[in-house]
Amino acid sequence: MGMLIKNGRIVDPGNMDCISDILIENGKIKDIAPGIPETAAEKVIDASGKIIVPGLIDMHVHFREPGQEYKETIESGCQAAARGGFTAVCTMPNTDPVNDNAQVTKFILEKAKQANGVKVYPVAAISRGLEGKTLCEYGELKQAGAIALSDDGRPVISSQLMRRALEYANGFGLPIISHCEDIDLAGNGAMNEGETATRMGLPGIPNAVESIMVIRDIALSELTGIPVHIAHVSTAESVHAIRDAKKRGIPVTAETAPHYFTLTEKAVENYNTNAKMNPPLRTEQDRQAVRNGLADGTIDVIATDHAPHHVLEKEVEFDKAANGIVGLETSLPLGLKLVEEGVLTMAGLIEKMSINPARILGLERGIKVGNAADITVIDPDAVWTVNKDEFLSVSRNTPFHGWEVRGKAVLMIVDGSSHEC
Ligand SMILES: [Zn+2]
Repeated sequence: MGMLIKNGRIVDPGNMDCISDILIENGKIKDIAPGIPETAAEKVIDASGKIIVPGLIDMHVHFREPGQEYKETIESGCQAAARGGFTAVCTMPNTDPVNDNAQVTKFILEKAKQANGVKVYPVAAISRGLEGKTLCEYGELKQAGAIALSDDGRPVISSQLMRRALEYANGFGLPIISHCEDIDLAGNGAMNEGETATRMGLPGIPNAVESIMVIRDIALSELTGIPVHIAHVSTAESVHAIRDAKKRGIPVTAETAPHYFTLTEKAVENYNTNAKMNPPLRTEQDRQAVRNGLADGTIDVIATDHAPHHVLEKEVEFDKAANGIVGLETSLPLGLKLVEEGVLTMAGLIEKMSINPARILGLERGIKVGNAADITVIDPDAVWTVNKDEFLSVSRNTPFHGWEVRGKAVLMIVDGSSHEC
């Protein structure tokens, strides 16, 4: 006997948007229909007024284990993910040691098994030690459970190595996620280049730092015909380049993070290190371009780039502070704000947070009979205040502390097992 979710609005983009019941048995979806009798299951959940969506996937998180467990462990990261409504996450490889070999990949999966059921998909490194010099053993990594490849945190500087990586990875069906940054041009930049940086006396990072590499990777994708996924898009120029590439049929996909469509460089005024990240927060014009890119499908995915840091790494001079913010527990309400503001429909949001990441990563997704019961139940009307002290993440580095937001995941179900959020 399984679980019955009654009277929720099921939003599964391209499949259904209706009020119905879902019967779950043995970890799978057994039936979807209105009026399934309560006697059909031992556990009945009333989801009236709630929205039921395919389990959310965050395809870009940094859990710091192995190596920096004081910032986050796989277990604490999975708890933060569940709290935020995510049934699956992809962990980036810049751990210590780097996830560039099967042992580390297997260690991450082993740790994930002991956590709360959130599905963890390790992203392994493109190059050994993230050094951009030699490719890792992709076959071995795939066999160990890696789902994609990225040197995230560092760009692959050599175009030749990036080309070889695309070709080699494609043979194993492993997508490449590119961290686009011209580090020479970035120099010692600490925030967005422009008038605000000048006024604050901080070295700036121009938009071209990102778009130069986006354009290069589009060129490599065009050359090889192999898909490339661009991580954390922050600039108008990147959005324009990706839009143009898609029009020309180049198989490029892209993600942005909630902070890039919510905040601008103004958030770093007063030297607020909890708004320091890489790529940096940009201008209002860039923020609008990112929102337009989400609205017209140029940007496929919303991912958090969840980057936990200890308070001591943030309570230092701005230019010395660590880059990144935690994002798992605030991503959904910030995304729902896009729906409220008419940038995305509810189905459009769920595409960005579940369907598209699954498609890019080659995962099965969707509320269909026979599929794994990976489901997120959202209360769209819950108004709450972000309180970093209540985070389940080990870290507290968020610029959204104290924000009043609307919408919250209340229940997430992974393979039929439910967890309150
Ligand atoms: Zn990242």
